[in-house]
Amino acid sequence: MAMDLIDIDGSFGEGGGQIVRTSLGLSLLTGRPVEIRNVRAGRGKPGLLRQHLCALRAATEIGEAEVKGAALGSTFVRFVPKSIKSGRYSFDVGSAGSATLVLQTVLPALLSADAPSELTITGGTDNPFAPPIDFLKFAFAPLLARMGGDLKLDVERRGYYPRGGGRFIATITPGALKPITLTDPVEHRVSAIAYIAGLKKSIATRELNVLREAFSLTRDQMRVVELDANWGPGNTLSVSLEASGVTEIVTGFGEKRVRAETVAERVAEEARAILDAKVPVGEHLADQQLLLCALAGGGSFLTLPPSLHTRTQATVLKRFLPVEIDLREVDASRWRVTVS
Ligand code: AMP
Repeated sequence: MAMDLIDIDGSFGEGGGQIVRTSLGLSLLTGRPVEIRNVRAGRGKPGLLRQHLCALRAATEIGEAEVKGAALGSTFVRFVPKSIKSGRYSFDVGSAGSATLVLQTVLPALLSADAPSELTITGGTDNPFAPPIDFLKFAFAPLLARMGGDLKLDVERRGYYPRGGGRFIATITPGALKPITLTDPVEHRVSAIAYIAGLKKSIATRELNVLREAFSLTRDQMRVVELDANWGPGNTLSVSLEASGVTEIVTGFGEKRVRAETVAERVAEEARAILDAKVPVGEHLADQQLLLCALAGGGSFLTLPPSLHTRTQATVLKRFLPVEIDLREVDASRWRVTVS
C-alpha cells in the first residue's frame, strides 16, 4: 500500500542537518516517503554537505530507497524507502565530516530490523557541532541499552578536522525500546579525559589543570590519552558526568589560536550548568534522548532549558510518529520533557 508522503521544510527551527537526518531516519524506520525542501537553509553553506550525502547514501542502501537530490549542495531530497535491510555495511564520508552523524541517521531503523547489523564508518569521529564518538559510546549507547537497544562501538582510529580518516565499527542488535523515566535531580561524579594526537602533551595537562581547579578533581579522576600522532593534529577534552546509571559527556576540542585553558574553561562552564541544575540529561543528550523516547513510545527526563535543536527535533518527531511531546519549565534552570 502506498503511504502518504511527508513534506518537511528544512528551513524551520534550527534549519540544519539534524532535520535532514531525523527525517531520513524516521522515513526509513516507518516506511513513509519524505520530501525535504530548503535543506539546511539556516546554515552559511546550505544544502547537502559530504556528511549529509553520506548519511543519505547509507539510508538509501539500507532502505533500498528511490532517491532524488542525492548530490553535493542539493537543497531538495525525495526519499522513498522500500525495506530495512540489516547486514554488513561500509560507509565513508570522504572528508573529515562527522561519521557519527551517519550512524545516527540509520540507527532507529536498524534497531527495529529483523537481524543485527555491522557498520564500518569512516570520517570524523571528534567533530565540533556533532556527537563525538565518546559521547555516543559513554553517554548515548548506555542509555539506549537501559531502554532495550544494543549499540556497540569499537573505535579503530579517531578522525579530526581537517585530516579525517577516523573509523569505527558499530554493531547494532535490534530490540524493542521501552520507556525510561529520568526525572529525579541527581548528584554527579566528575571525571575527565584529555586526548591528544600529534600535539604536545602539555596541552592535555593544561586542560586538565583547569578542570582540576574547577571541580576539585583528584588524580584518579583525570587521564591523558596520547593517540597515534599520525591521526592528528587533534585534541579532545571529554568530561564525564555520571549519576545514578546515566552518564552525560561534555566535550571541547582544541583549536588553532585558542589556548588550552580557554578550551577547558568552555567545557567547565557547560559541565557546571549541568552540575548546578542536577539534571541527568544535558543539552545535547536531550535532543537524542528525545528521539529514543519517541521510538519507545514514551518516557520523560529532567534537563536544561531546551535548545532550538531539541525543539526542532520534537517537531520533526511528531510528523512521523504518533507521540505527544511536552516540554515544561520546572524552574529557572530545569525543564521536564515528557513523551507519551
Ligand atoms: P546539526 O547542527 O543540525 O547538524 O545537528 C548536530 C547534532 O549534533 C545535534 O543532534 C546536536 O545535539 C549534536 N551535537 C552537537 N554538539 C554535540 C556535543 N558536543 N555532544 C553531543 N552531541 C552534540
